[in-house]
Amino acid sequence: MVDLVVRSRRAVVGGAERPAAVAVTGSRIESVSAYDATIEAAEDVDLGDTALLPGLVDTHVHVNEPGRTEWEGFATATRAAAAGGVTTIIDMPLNSLPPTVDVEALRIKQAAAAGKIHVDVGFWGGAIPGNAAALPGLHDAGVFGFKAFLADSGVPEFPPVSPAELALSLKAVDALFVVHAEDPGHLRDAASSAAYADFLASRPAAAEDAAIATAIDAARATGQRVHILHLSAAGALTLIAAAQAEGVRVTAETCPHYLTLDAAQIPDGATEFKCCPPIRDAANADALWRALTDGLITCVVSDHSPCTPELKRRDTGDFAAAWGGIASVQLGLPVIWTAARDRGHRLADVVEWMARRPADLVGLAAKGRIAPGADADLVAFDPDATFEVDPSRLHHRNPVTPYAGKVLRGVVRTTWLRGRRVTTDQAGGRFLMREG
Ligand SMILES: [Zn+2]
Repeated sequence: MVDLVVRSRRAVVGGAERPAAVAVTGSRIESVSAYDATIEAAEDVDLGDTALLPGLVDTHVHVNEPGRTEWEGFATATRAAAAGGVTTIIDMPLNSLPPTVDVEALRIKQAAAAGKIHVDVGFWGGAIPGNAAALPGLHDAGVFGFKAFLADSGVPEFPPVSPAELALSLKAVDALFVVHAEDPGHLRDAASSAAYADFLASRPAAAEDAAIATAIDAARATGQRVHILHLSAAGALTLIAAAQAEGVRVTAETCPHYLTLDAAQIPDGATEFKCCPPIRDAANADALWRALTDGLITCVVSDHSPCTPELKRRDTGDFAAAWGGIASVQLGLPVIWTAARDRGHRLADVVEWMARRPADLVGLAAKGRIAPGADADLVAFDPDATFEVDPSRLHHRNPVTPYAGKVLRGVVRTTWLRGRRVTTDQAGGRFLMREG
């Protein structure tokens, strides 16, 4: 007898949607059978026409604990993740204090997270000037790779690397490097202004083009894997395609806000839309969708990056002074599904972009898929139900969101983590270590 069977007429299995019964023993998926298969189970859940998805994998989340826990923390971020159908997050190395730039800092972060996590959590390390010698040890301690900034990160304890320092980091350890690609030479200090256009002009597409060229050069010179984080400027995709064609190991991700929001529609003073790189125009978003459809953009991740409402300067609406970051780990799935469906995509495409491919990016073979042997991370998702985004129903610590009031399609009904229903009071998450 198995512990749990979840049946759905719309299970996303092996890249397609089909009726299925997913049997779970302990923490793992034991089998995937016909929807009406006879299976002896302690618990038998029939979702009917509600879809069954693998838990999403969000490889780009800023939890900020310890040190800036008033911005976000492990309990709130992982509750938000579970409510949004995300069962795995990989935490970014910065905004926490200390930043995760050596083994000691990783241990401090894990101690801060212990007992508080509602989904599984892995960690990125950080590559900053002067810490190349610390990278091999941090990699051995289980981080999934290393994040580097080519422009100011916004926090002083996580400085950017020069192109030469980036190359030095890449040579220090055989690892995946993930890069915030904006070139400081193309960024201007934005003047104090409540007009989004002024902020946008201060961070032109050319800054991304130049930094992506730098990252590609470093990947080519060292043979290392480089992944471009939160790509906004679609023009840079031609550089990535050309580099891939010559065998350079470079990939890219984008985020829900770049795919679905339009610079022209951002109201004056609406600093909840500020992020770096910035949201650009609708034609740019169309080009990002084409690249996602073609597979040139590998995956869609949240870049969940909250702060306090004070730091968002909602009182003055000054884009120059506001912290840049959009918190959307809870809303990414319905935001993307709503837009993807309108563009003729299938639910299985969304699962590919937000579950399987991010899992593959970081080498988590047991995550992001419904298959025998995989972790029983499952999501009951009603793809036809709609809801209006009410910030008071967001679980993250500071429910500031550019999606407030939007009507989205797709409601997460239940999330299972390794075979157990996720609840707000039981912190059943585990730390994930890089495999292999
Ligand atoms: Zn980020």
